[in-house]
Amino acid sequence: MDLKHIKGIGDKTIETLYDSNIYSVEELVSYFPYRYQVLQPEILEDAKEKVGITINARVCGPSKVSYIRKNFNSLRFLCDTYGKQIQVVIFNRAFLKPKLTIGQDVTLIGKYDAKKNTFTANDIKFTKLEQTRILPIYHFIKGLKNSTLEKLILNALHEIKNFEQILPFEVEKKYSFLSKEESFYEIHHPSHLEKMELAKKRFIYEELFEFLFKVQYLKLIKEEEIGVSKKVDRFKIEKLIQSLPFSLTTDQEKVIEEGLNDLEKPKRMNRLLLGDVGSGKTIVATVLMYANVLNQYQCAFLAPTEVLATQHFYSIRDILKETDVEIELLVGSMTKKEKEVVMKKVQNHDVDILIGTHAILNENLFFQRLGFIVTDEQHRFGVHQRDLLKNKGELPDMLFMSATPIPRTYALTIYGDMDTSFIKEKPSGRKDIVTKVLKESDLKEALFKTLEEIKKGHQVYVVAPMILENDSNLKDVNLLKEKFDVAFHGKIPIGVLHGKMKKKEKEDVMNDFKLGNTKILISTTVIEVGVDVKNATLMIIFNAERFGLATLHQLRGRVGRNDELSFCYLICDEEKDRLKVLEESNDGFYISEKDFEFRGEGDLFGVKQSGDMTFKIANLKRDYSILLELKKEVLHFLDTKEYQNYPYYEKIVDQIDFTN
Ligand code: ADP
Ligand code: MG
Repeated sequence: MDLKHIKGIGDKTIETLYDSNIYSVEELVSYFPYRYQVLQPEILEDAKEKVGITINARVCGPSKVSYIRKNFNSLRFLCDTYGKQIQVVIFNRAFLKPKLTIGQDVTLIGKYDAKKNTFTANDIKFTKLEQTRILPIYHFIKGLKNSTLEKLILNALHEIKNFEQILPFEVEKKYSFLSKEESFYEIHHPSHLEKMELAKKRFIYEELFEFLFKVQYLKLIKEEEIGVSKKVDRFKIEKLIQSLPFSLTTDQEKVIEEGLNDLEKPKRMNRLLLGDVGSGKTIVATVLMYANVLNQYQCAFLAPTEVLATQHFYSIRDILKETDVEIELLVGSMTKKEKEVVMKKVQNHDVDILIGTHAILNENLFFQRLGFIVTDEQHRFGVHQRDLLKNKGELPDMLFMSATPIPRTYALTIYGDMDTSFIKEKPSGRKDIVTKVLKESDLKEALFKTLEEIKKGHQVYVVAPMILENDSNLKDVNLLKEKFDVAFHGKIPIGVLHGKMKKKEKEDVMNDFKLGNTKILISTTVIEVGVDVKNATLMIIFNAERFGLATLHQLRGRVGRNDELSFCYLICDEEKDRLKVLEESNDGFYISEKDFEFRGEGDLFGVKQSGDMTFKIANLKRDYSILLELKKEVLHFLDTKEYQNYPYYEKIVDQIDFTN
């Protein structure tokens, strides 16, 4: 329903709501408070010692404004509270003066100083609080006061005649929720805290039910999807594996086998490969690509950044060097001419494997026979994949890879629509990375270590978080370089890498480091994933408190890539308990469980890029048991086709069928 149906709403407010992605009455009423303020009228005498109290009072004298200095004023007036006169002061609310007429009832929230008989209010409401009131507090929408929003939402609720039935009736009965209508009123305008909680519970169940429904429904269609059955040339694949300078781990072998089986089946492959950094996912993807090429299919390998795409290009070319597979790189910063050449080759099927960033998909790129897409470190529901597929006719097999170590149980539920493979063991010979949390004042220790490693002929990464404006606390990469130059008397060659550099500059810096011309590489987290310099044995991370554990674990995965013992120093003065987890463990899955405990799901899915993973009211960590509970209900709902009786799910199904 259109927002304009709400009583008393103006065009300007509608615009404001649009800006916050609220386009309908239904969306507005689903804009839930994120917390509540409980207002309880108290008696002044009782509360002398308390930090903040709420009192009822009545204005009983004239009010006076003083302008103390620019942007700072005070408003003073006399009040009567149950027969006692007190002086009230409130800062920066000069504009309220006209409302403070004698006899006006007010509710004051603030502090009382009995000696001065002065009440310093930090909030004032122009009502008499008869009883306890629970105020909903909403996330701030620019240009809308909390109280205005509260009223708007109540008015919006009055307009809704039929509430969508999201939970199946049976489920609703089973948990004896409040009715949907009552739940809406209770969540926005609670009569009791307990009832509000009950209302909230209903919405959590609804949100998770709908989420699971989507995942499971997707799974169903994917199961029915017809793909191409490919032949696996085991002989040639075995030959490729034999040509590698190392033998595969059991997990790698197992996952390759799972992938090859997928290719053989006449069903479309839809697999997520989860494996810690350095667990060797690239080789798995490469073997599967090779299997496709042996079937005369083309493959696309998508990486999240140019640096990574370039790295993958070289390492994949190296893995396949004894085959006649044609590999090309296509990244945004190539010249138009260079791109055209590559694109032409792709179109003529003179390229078997194309490696690039997602940007390549926006170009007018045509494959002749695209049969396999690998996506590294990227969210699974990328719109681009679909764009890419549109001009291709065939249904390519898909492999998604991620080093975000999602706890296995969560992964199985959240990615329930995909097959999942895990690589748990590291290549043999790899030692755990010795990790140490250091205070800023103990930096010397890290500098000593740096020197020690460099003397052994090794190399060192130094990582500083990306600089945000006004963030003077953070270590700037250039400042760090100066610091290191001073410490080592400028005798150690140091490279600096940050996101704002040009492609060519970045490449030069990376190359110098790879070739060992520079011994230390100071960079922002642009190098976060994938970079592979085997000679690096020490990483120093500044402002480590800025990162989630999973991210730090990924970062330190840049070292420990050879048989030497490697080290990671985390420099920070805060949150040491959290970071200690990294001292104790090198197991990505364990660390992600811990990260989950500390920070909730927020960090798990990287930046909030993952639109379909953000919940309005549910919280994966807190509500995980509900998710499991509901899974059975959802499967039953789908199995029995009961969902067809619910208009709400008809709409969802249409959408999924359309976009998929
Ligand atoms: P990630 O899973 O992080 O993408 P990579 O595929 O980049 O890991 O592999 C990390 C490094 O380990 C690479 O240098 C790769 O050559 C090497 N590697 C992969 N598998 C093995 C193995 N079975 N034994 C030894 N080294 C391996
Ligand atoms: Mg990788």
